Amino acid sequence: MRCPFCNLNRTKVIDSRVVRGGDEIRRRRQCDPEDGGCDGRFTTFERVELRVAGVVKKDGRRVPYDREKVRSGLLRATWKTRIGEEEIEEFLNRLERKFAERLVKEVPTDQIGQQVLIFLKAKDPVAYIRFMSVYGDFTSSEQFKELIDSLDGEG
Ligand SMILES: [Zn+2]
Repeated sequence: MRCPFCNLNRTKVIDSRVVRGGDEIRRRRQCDPEDGGCDGRFTTFERVELRVAGVVKKDGRRVPYDREKVRSGLLRATWKTRIGEEEIEEFLNRLERKFAERLVKEVPTDQIGQQVLIFLKAKDPVAYIRFMSVYGDFTSSEQFKELIDSLDGEG
């Protein structure tokens, strides 16, 4: 991007943040003096579509982000618990927003799983264990038993 002061194309971004309820990015730019620029600073606003576009699976495959998939995993885990559908919707909104605001377009699946686990652990141990038993990375049943024992200790 050209500097509005000296017209050189030497600007760099020194800060980016999401503004206006999430549909614009404000970038502070500097005409880089180390690259022959004039050290002028200016701000640009760019409209963005804030959404998580894709997920990266453990094996490195990239697939489109599917909110329904995350939701159905959550619904299964929270069946007959105190966690209602509305709470799940709110959580999904927060989750997507969190990644979108960091301008992450592709999220590793284990990061999504981690956020889900943090949410469930705080809400309901039963839902947490159910989710863990399906999506957790256990190499032995012994590990799973340890997890359950550790939860018992916290109550
Ligand atoms: Zn300049």
